[in-house]
Amino acid sequence: MNTRVRPSHVLLVALLMAAPAAAQVATQTSEKVDYDAIYKIKEEGFQRSQVMDTASWLTDVYGPRLTGSPSFKAAADWAVKRLTEWGASNPHIEPWGTFGRGWANERFSATVVSGAQPWIITGVPKAWTPGVDGTVTAEVVFAPMEAEADLEKWKGKLAGKIVLPMPTREVKAHFEPEASRMTDADLAKLSAYEPVGPQRRAYNMAALGFSVKRLEFLQSEGVLAVFEPGRGDGGTLFVQQGGAYNPKGPSGFMRFPAVVPPTVVIAVEHYGRLVRTLERKVPVSVELTIKNTMTEDQPGMNVVAELPGTDKADEIVMLGAHFDGWHGGTGATDNAAGSAVMLEALRILKASGVKLRRTVRLGLWGGEEQGLIGSREYVKATFADRTTMQVKPAHAKISGYFNVDNGTGAIRGV
Ligand SMILES: [Zn+2]
Repeated sequence: MNTRVRPSHVLLVALLMAAPAAAQVATQTSEKVDYDAIYKIKEEGFQRSQVMDTASWLTDVYGPRLTGSPSFKAAADWAVKRLTEWGASNPHIEPWGTFGRGWANERFSATVVSGAQPWIITGVPKAWTPGVDGTVTAEVVFAPMEAEADLEKWKGKLAGKIVLPMPTREVKAHFEPEASRMTDADLAKLSAYEPVGPQRRAYNMAALGFSVKRLEFLQSEGVLAVFEPGRGDGGTLFVQQGGAYNPKGPSGFMRFPAVVPPTVVIAVEHYGRLVRTLERKVPVSVELTIKNTMTEDQPGMNVVAELPGTDKADEIVMLGAHFDGWHGGTGATDNAAGSAVMLEALRILKASGVKLRRTVRLGLWGGEEQGLIGSREYVKATFADRTTMQVKPAHAKISGYFNVDNGTGAIRGV
C-alpha cells in the first residue's frame, strides 16, 4: 500500500522542476532548484499522507462516479468540501453544460431457478439501459446472431425471453503473471517516445454497426432482457454503456439507440454454463431483478481548485485527472487513483507551506469515459477552441499540465 503514497512525490518534484524549466526556456536564465521545498514536500507526503484516506472516500464511499450519476455529484461535493478544509483557493464545481442522462443501478440479481440446483449469476447491468418491472422469471434462449441472416432466423421467437445473443468463448488458463514490472531499460525506451500527434483507436466499425442493428432487433422483438458474456474472466468483468446517455439521439462512439432492452454483462464462465446447459436440451429459467434509475438533463461537471502563486501568480501549472469511472466496480484504478494523487499533491503543496511562484490549478474532469468531454469543454472555455485553433489570453500563461490516468502501481517516470 505504501507504494501508492509515492506517486504524489514523484509528481510534485516534477512539478517543481517543471515550473523553473518553463521559465528557463522563456528567459534563458537558470533558476536554482529549491531543495528545501522538495524536502518539505517529501516530509509532508511521507509523514502525514492522506492519499489512501482520499482514495477510500472516492471509491469505497462514493464509487463508481459514473458521469451524470448521483455518485459522481456526491464525490464532487466531497472533493470540494475536503479541498476547502485543506485551504485550497476557490474549490468549486464547474458545470460544462448538459451532459444528458443520469443513471444508476440500484438492485440486480439473477438466479437460475430451473434444473437440479438453483445458482446465482454474476453480472452487472450496462449503463443507460432500463431495468425490468419488479422480479420476473423468464426462459433463457441461446440465439447467437453474428450476421444479418441470423436476425431473420430468430424473428418472432424471442418475445419475453432472456436472450444470449452472442457465441460463447473459450476461457483459457492464465500462464502469464497478472502484473509485471518494467526494467530501467523499458522505462528508458518509454521516455524516448516521440509524440506522433492525435491517434484514434482502431475499432471494427462493421462489427460495431452490426451489434447496434442486433440491439435494435432485440428491442423490436420485445425481449425481456439481454445477457452478454463479459470481457475478462476469473471474476473480472468489464462493463460500460449499453444505451444512450443523450436521449436526443444516438450517443457514444457505438451510436447506441435511445431505446434499448435491459442489458446485463455476465461472467463469461456463467454465460458458458448457460449455453452448455441449453445445448444439452435442459430448459433454463432465470429469476431476474434489475432496478435502474434514469434522470434526464443532468449537467456535466468538473471540480476546479487553486493554490495561488506569488510573483508569477498569473502563470498557471495545472494538474488533473479524470474523476468519472464505470459502474461495475468503484472506479478505483480508473481513475480514483489518479484523482487521489492529484488531490494529495495539492494538499501537500498547501500543508508543506512551500512558496509557489506560479499558481497551481487542479482539474478533476467529468465525462472522460464518454470522450474526454469535461476536459475538452474546460480547454474550450478557458484556453483555446480546438476546432478553430483560436486561443484565449490564458493560453499564453499556462506553463504545463500533468495528468494521471495510469491505473495502479508506482509512477516511476514522467
Ligand atoms: Zn481513465
